[in-house]
This record gives sequence, C-alpha cells and structure tokens, in this order.
Amino acid sequence: LAAQSHPNHQTIVKISEKVAFGGEELVIIGGPCTVESLEQMEIVAQKLSTASIQGLRGGVYKPRTSPYAFQGMGEEGLRILARVRSHYNMPVVTEVMSISQIEVVAAHADMLQVGSRNMQNFDLLKALGQAGKPILLKRGLAATIEEFVMAAEYILSHGNPDVVLCERGIRSFDDYTRNVLDLAAVAALKQITHLPVIVDPSHAVGKRELVAPVARAAIACGADGLIIECHPQPEKSVSDARQALSLEDMVRLVDSLKPVAKAV
Ligand code: PEP
Ligand code: MN
Repeated sequence: LAAQSHPNHQTIVKISEKVAFGGEELVIIGGPCTVESLEQMEIVAQKLSTASIQGLRGGVYKPRTSPYAFQGMGEEGLRILARVRSHYNMPVVTEVMSISQIEVVAAHADMLQVGSRNMQNFDLLKALGQAGKPILLKRGLAATIEEFVMAAEYILSHGNPDVVLCERGIRSFDDYTRNVLDLAAVAALKQITHLPVIVDPSHAVGKRELVAPVARAAIACGADGLIIECHPQPEKSVSDARQALSLEDMVRLVDSLKPVAKAV
C-alpha cells in the first residue's frame, strides 16, 4: 500500500482545513520538544503564527531515556495544546506512546506522532490504523528504509491512509551530531512510496547551530516539510535544550527556505 504503483502519484495528507502535506506548499511544524506551560505555548504560537509556519508541535507524553527525567505534562498538556490550537487556528502534532493514549490524544490533536522508539511497536501501529487521525511516523533509531516503509504499511493496512514519513537521523559511529541525517533516504522514499516525506533536522543534528543548513538541504532533497524544535528561551528547555532554536531563529530559518523550495 505504501509502494509507488504508478509514477508520480502523490498522496496528500490533510491535517486541518488549510494544512496538507504532499501538496505544492511546504508544511513547517514548529514548537518545543516538551509542552511546559500554557504561557510557553502561547508565546510560541503567537510568534510562529505570524510567519509561514502552519502547525505546532509539543510533546506531552515524552519517551525519555532516563525514568527520572520529566515524563511530560500528560492530559494537562493536551488541554494546553487544544487551547492554543483553537486560539491561533494552527493544527497540532503530538506524540502518542501507547495504545491507551490514542483516544485522548486524538481528541485534542490534529496529527498523532509515532516516535522513533516506537516505530516497530506493531500493536501501536495497528491500533493507529483505526485512530481516525493522520499519523506522523518517525524513522526508528536504527531502522532500514525497508523497515520504515513496512512500519507505515502496518498503519495503512489497518485502515488509515493518512501517513506522513519523517526522517530524523539514524545512529552511526560518529557522535559529533546526535544522529546522522540520511538525506538519501528522503530522496529514496519520495521515489519508492507515494506518501509525503518530511525531515526533523533538530533530532538529526542535536545542535542548534546545525539545524538551519541541514533543514535547507532537506528541502533541496525534496522533503515535503519540516518539523523543528524551538522555544522562547532555548537554553531553558526542559528537554532537548541543546538543539532548540530561538523563535527568532526559527522564523529566520523558514524565510531562508523559500528560495530553496522555489529552486526544487
Ligand atoms: C520528539 O519529536 O520530541 C522525539 C522524541 O523525537 P524522536 O522520536 O525522533 O526521537
Ligand atoms: Mn525532542
């Protein structure tokens, strides 16, 4: 179902009245790694809504490496997301880590994210086939392109046609960047599937000063959009502080994509 059956067929995944992945327009999603407060999300949404940034991100169920690290605001965070979503008329993307979270997340968000660590959580993927919401499927930390496409196949074959693939870097021997961004995978996925493909440069590089150049390269490679972490006070982010852009840098980056997008 994920495979490209006839040349140049492109699936469009619509997440709100005005925002759709896979069409003419690049879709840019911005926001913090973690939802921290209503005030934080209001500041983010206020700033991003004035730029060409169509959607908001923010985790409320966080897959943290350490069980002692902040695990996310949970339902209170979902209510914050729903508030800014309606106030600023911006669709919201947030992660769902387990089957038991699907219903409540689907009630508050426009798109459900499957994080890297869950890319092969097959029971979760099957359940998301019935979630009735578009899915943002992130590539596993060490998943091959074939495994990534097969993970999408689980969601599609269980009844949900609205899947967007997200390349976010894979583990390799070099730890200078947090992960190694596989840009060839973006081009390959565009050829072998009909699904929209976006890139998360933030988790790929892990360092804010590398996010912008890599984001531009992703667009040059044919990505349909980007999901980028930004924060009103980047160095104070409760998670992934090192890779968070300031809101000003986020807007500047998005402006710099326009000539690249035009050239592709
Ligand atoms: C995230 O988007 O905040 C996240 C945890 O990403 P990934 O699953 O790609 O590590
Ligand atoms: Mn993060």
